[in-house]
Amino acid sequence: MSCRCPWSDYKRLFWDEEYLEEIKDMIPDYIAKISGKRFLPEPITEITKEEWEKLFWEEISSALPYCIEHRIIKMKCDEYGKEREWRGIMVIFWFRDYALGVWTLGGEARKYFYIGCRHEYVELTREEKIKEGFPASETFHVYRCSKCGHIIVIDSGD
Ligand SMILES: [Zn+2]
Repeated sequence: MSCRCPWSDYKRLFWDEEYLEEIKDMIPDYIAKISGKRFLPEPITEITKEEWEKLFWEEISSALPYCIEHRIIKMKCDEYGKEREWRGIMVIFWFRDYALGVWTLGGEARKYFYIGCRHEYVELTREEKIKEGFPASETFHVYRCSKCGHIIVIDSGD
């Protein structure tokens, strides 16, 4: 089977609605709030196997995923010039503020995905922290993504 799915076809990908209903409460709130529990955080980007593995091992070396799930995901692919829909499984590793997914079809075709914003964090100043209601303490660091607004907090005084 040849399955070529340029990521420009991404809009034609959709999630299995019934299955999503079952697992939606398992998706951690901190990620769900980015785009709602029924949907994966956007954007969803196909990446190379090499990049996926690099990111995966970097994350795993500091913390385990918050949640691991699998979803049945249909993708439309061209087969011999004719478009066909395939039902595959995506295993999703939810990390602190994004997820990594790998899609497999009968153990054959595999696609690797970065799910969510590629955050660019900027640390808030003391004044900004106070304004946002965070402790002003020097050891309490607050970072906000300049692209999506997601906030992470690191308390180095722990
Ligand atoms: Zn972001």
